[in-house]
Amino acid sequence: MIPTVAEAIRVSRGLTQMSLASRAGVSQTAISLLETGHARTPAPIAAALSRTLDTSEALLTTPAPEVELLHAMKDAVRAGVRRRVAAEFILAFVRIQALAPGTRHTARHSGRDEGSPAVCAEGLRSAWQIPPGPVQNIVSTLESHGVVHLRRDLGGTRVNALVGVVGSHRAIMFVDPRAHYDDAAWNIAHELGHLALHASALPAQEGAAEDFAGEFLAPATEIRQLLSSGMDVDDLPAHFRVPPAKFARHARRRGVITVADHRRLRTHSRPPHEHHELPAHAMLAGIVDERTRAGETIEQVAASAFLTVNDLREDFI
Ligand SMILES: [Zn+2]
Repeated sequence: MIPTVAEAIRVSRGLTQMSLASRAGVSQTAISLLETGHARTPAPIAAALSRTLDTSEALLTTPAPEVELLHAMKDAVRAGVRRRVAAEFILAFVRIQALAPGTRHTARHSGRDEGSPAVCAEGLRSAWQIPPGPVQNIVSTLESHGVVHLRRDLGGTRVNALVGVVGSHRAIMFVDPRAHYDDAAWNIAHELGHLALHASALPAQEGAAEDFAGEFLAPATEIRQLLSSGMDVDDLPAHFRVPPAKFARHARRRGVITVADHRRLRTHSRPPHEHHELPAHAMLAGIVDERTRAGETIEQVAASAFLTVNDLREDFI
């Protein structure tokens, strides 16, 4: 009795069991049985549902992976959006498991369970061999360590990145395409914090994820060096490509800027020319490319993930 992805498909289309039942001409009980995996769905019902949802019967009966969202979203995201996003994560995991089955992330390491979230961030920077200075491309940095990125509408302005995990080594990051670089980069690093701290002995709450994000993007030792080499404190957020208010809180907590600097930076706003687009994700495109070079057609690759070529191109690569 393993739940199927049928529920995620329905929720991602914004349908209730009732509305789907009446559209497909089947009973609500039949839908409930299919979704919970409690009984084999009779062929005519499966056919009616797959027609109505415009999806294959094979996908409807695929077991749903157990996706965990680590960020506390209680106030930031409306419940309806939360349900839809959770459903989209389930579908994304099913598809990415088919497209790139070997993908594992390496955000969690043994031996980093001691110290603070900032120490953990420092450890990950060094494990991933990130050179000193601003993280140049946060998307490709995470993708090269197995965190798959996808662009998804997250329905709100306060949350523009969200990580979903299955087990301890599979992770997908949803990034809102409307986000600007600095905000999105900070949110991605915050979510990376949840991922890195997840199941460690360290607290993995919001404050800890913020501390991790700050140290990952703007290490305190580097801030200190830049200040002592004469850089103006007001230029530091742009240097590290992070939002000034977030930078101010982090640098103050790490004790590397003064209270007065913190107060001033907190209210800085960025000039419009500093709004940059987030770099595109490229990891899945590379994997799909490898598979087609190895002899599969793009249609076969798409079909293996229950996708049309169009949907594969638009939503995944
Ligand atoms: Zn969070």
